[in-house]
Amino acid sequence: MLQTVVIIGAGPVGLLLAHYLLRRGKYRIELYEQRPDPRLVDASQDRTFPLSLQARGRKALRQIRGLEEAIAAAGVFCNGSKIYRQKGKTREISRVVPLLTIDRNRLVMILLQHLTQTDNSEQLTVKFGCQCVGVNRSAKTVTLQPEQGEAFTLTYDRLVAADGVRSPIRDYLVQDAGLQCEQTYIPDAYKSVFLTRLNPVLGLELEPDKIHGWNRDNRTRMVMVPQPGDQLNGVITFDAQDNPLSSLTTQEEVLPFFRENFPLFGQLMSTEEAEAFWHRPVGQVFTVRCDRFHEGDSILLMGDAAHAVSPAMGQGCNASLEDVLIFERLLEQYQDDWALALPTFSEQRVPDAHALRELSDYSFPRTKWLFVEFFLRSQISRFLHQWFPQWVQPFVFDLVFDHDMPYSQVLNLHQGWINKVKRSSPHLA
Ligand SMILES: Cc1cc2nc3c(=O)[nH]c(=O)nc-3n(C[C@H](O)[C@H](O)[C@H](O)COP(=O)(O)OP(=O)(O)OC[C@H]3O[C@@H](n4cnc5c(N)ncnc54)[C@H](O)[C@@H]3O)c2cc1C
Repeated sequence: MLQTVVIIGAGPVGLLLAHYLLRRGKYRIELYEQRPDPRLVDASQDRTFPLSLQARGRKALRQIRGLEEAIAAAGVFCNGSKIYRQKGKTREISRVVPLLTIDRNRLVMILLQHLTQTDNSEQLTVKFGCQCVGVNRSAKTVTLQPEQGEAFTLTYDRLVAADGVRSPIRDYLVQDAGLQCEQTYIPDAYKSVFLTRLNPVLGLELEPDKIHGWNRDNRTRMVMVPQPGDQLNGVITFDAQDNPLSSLTTQEEVLPFFRENFPLFGQLMSTEEAEAFWHRPVGQVFTVRCDRFHEGDSILLMGDAAHAVSPAMGQGCNASLEDVLIFERLLEQYQDDWALALPTFSEQRVPDAHALRELSDYSFPRTKWLFVEFFLRSQISRFLHQWFPQWVQPFVFDLVFDHDMPYSQVLNLHQGWINKVKRSSPHLA
């Protein structure tokens, strides 16, 4: 007898989990997503951005045959970053292990296409344009509202909240089941930006295998990532309380703003993009810290719904995909007994999620001198680790990116650095 698992949210986590569970052959999967089907309508570019996937995320993808290769083929490998400055100086930071970068919507599309072609796909239902609007955990039901027509209720054996940072299922558990959850807005807000990597008229061509960054000042910066087709996708981030874009009064002011503040990127922006940028919403980021990731023997929180972090370190999706790998290992260990797997998942994963929040907030230096120290420490540790791997661990970013050591262990090793960054930026603490 197959168990019915209802997954809410067809983002990276919901889709990867569906792959893993279908493969086990013991589940019927019903996946519901509020956004429209990306195979039928062009996905909105309002809230998409390139994700960098590293060791942890890629390890989780690799467990499903063909998935990592398909994602790599649709993304771009970057072997370092170039940071530009107003005064024309450029700093290069190289990476030993290249980063796989891919646009979020494209990642989702590949996960979905592969999912619908799996062997057990007759045990799968995926419905788009269908929003979860209610949960009743004693009756084990969820209520869904399709874009058109009446709301309907269905019964689940297990319910997975893969519904992202604003998770309504998490909110329900906070109100109804005593889940302790802290949601904190971080100072940085963002807007997506889409440029081209080339401007033949001006003879401009940005390297296709580097992440390109421009820091206007401590708080306003752009990060642009090459994507297939000579695209350059990324975001402008700024202090939500002191939004430099709020001084723009018409869409005609967008191009001059970029040309003045980010001259290089301004020259790669088309007038169509300037217009689209004007209409795009500002994304406000907040973090989520929960005391557990499950309720009873039947409700599981995963990914951003359980532990959204600041995007500064580019770990949210990696950690979320790693959740899926860790949970499946527990299902294997406990022979699919969710009453055992769920509390063990919380026990194992909550300390790592809390550590990741700390690492994401405070690994990256915010002052000039700490940046120099950060750079030197990274280089020296890389060199020494190569020769004495048993004694010298890589510095914090390399350890998080290129290894799958639990985040809580990484934090233990680098607590001194984290404390230093915290002291240097008290407004973030
Ligand atoms: C600017 C920016 C840059 C980032 N860069 C990186 C990076 O480089 N590397 C990295 O690892 N991470 C990065 N992240 C974080 C990453 O985007 C998230 O951690 C990741 O998308 C989490 O996946 P998820 O499936 O848990 O949630 P989501 O991607 O948010 O997906 C949740 C899905 O649930 C759906 N949903 C929500 N509510 C309902 C409902 N009521 N009913 C039905 N469906 C619902 C949503 O529509 C959505 O499709 C970045 C984030 C931001 C904002």
